[in-house]
Amino acid sequence: MGVYSFASGPASLPPPVKEWLAHDVVQWGASGQSALELPFSCAQFERILAEAETDIRALLGVPQNYRVLFLQGGAFAHFSLLAMNLAGDGGADYIESGLWSQRAIAEASPWIGVRIAARGDGTSLPDPAAWDICSSAAYCHYTSNETANGIAFERPPGHCPVPLVADMSADLFTRPLPVEPFALIYASGQKNLGAAGLTLVIVREDQLGRCRPGTPAPFDYTRQAKENSKVNTPATFAVVVAHRMLRWLIATGGLSAAESCLRRKAGVLYSEIDRDGFYVSPVEPTSRSPVNVRFHLASPRLESLFLREAEANGFLHLAGHPQIGGLRANLYNGVPVEAAEALAGFMKEFRRGRG
Ligand SMILES: *Cc1c(COP(=O)(O)O)cnc(C)c1O
Repeated sequence: MGVYSFASGPASLPPPVKEWLAHDVVQWGASGQSALELPFSCAQFERILAEAETDIRALLGVPQNYRVLFLQGGAFAHFSLLAMNLAGDGGADYIESGLWSQRAIAEASPWIGVRIAARGDGTSLPDPAAWDICSSAAYCHYTSNETANGIAFERPPGHCPVPLVADMSADLFTRPLPVEPFALIYASGQKNLGAAGLTLVIVREDQLGRCRPGTPAPFDYTRQAKENSKVNTPATFAVVVAHRMLRWLIATGGLSAAESCLRRKAGVLYSEIDRDGFYVSPVEPTSRSPVNVRFHLASPRLESLFLREAEANGFLHLAGHPQIGGLRANLYNGVPVEAAEALAGFMKEFRRGRG
């Protein structure tokens, strides 16, 4: 049976990427070795890393004064690590907009002084025009897309008086993005860039050089920048997967094409949800994330039934975040438009006779 996964991560991969990877596991190029067997210091892996960086720079237009780091730990580990790398002796401002930013705040708090510059209610976004940013903060951190809450900032906030840091785990590479407003962008790999194990950090050079003493060397951004992400063994296969995802993104039209694909997927689902009140979006319309589409049914019992029938029909992983509940379809890059269309069709069927 064909299945569609709407998982929050690790997410679906495009079929061509899976086919390339199946081959790569057997043999990388003409190397005679599996991509899993390549030593991280060999010429082939150097080239994979260099090409992945070139593709990231090309897709996002990353300026020369930024470094691209291929790290580990997941975005969750970098909640503390970025504080240890960027804050020096100072404190930082945070925008509390939902579950992931709350976790970022909780993890940074043991290390630095954290001040909340704006707070949302989890169903709508705190307006950037009203962020109360302290000019002495080492940086201001926000979560561009709150994956669990299903809300997202449409664009980067306007002027920020201090270095701007963003967790873009859910939405990096889903649309064109100007990098210049940011001092640092980070993202876990398993949403839009392939596999778990890789954490991408894009950091402006002026933010390097003040890592807190005692930070583990593999998580010292300055050392990793100096040593080309090879202080220790990088997540080599996750880098290979990212390399394949990036090539696929470029071959399918780059980030503008990724964005129009995302808008189509989100459009069919939100219009199904908004049809007649059988499905309900708990999110304020202008704050809705195109990537993580949350919805509810009239009762938890009906939601369980929906999940069971969806699964039986090949629509997998539609439960909401465990701490938030309800239902959620995650529309990362690897989820094709026809998956969203088929899900909308299933939702229509499910409603029939129950409305
Ligand atoms: C998935 C996600 C994370 C956590 O990623 P891990 O790889 O599990 O550490 C953090 N922030 C956001 C916005 C996410 O979507």
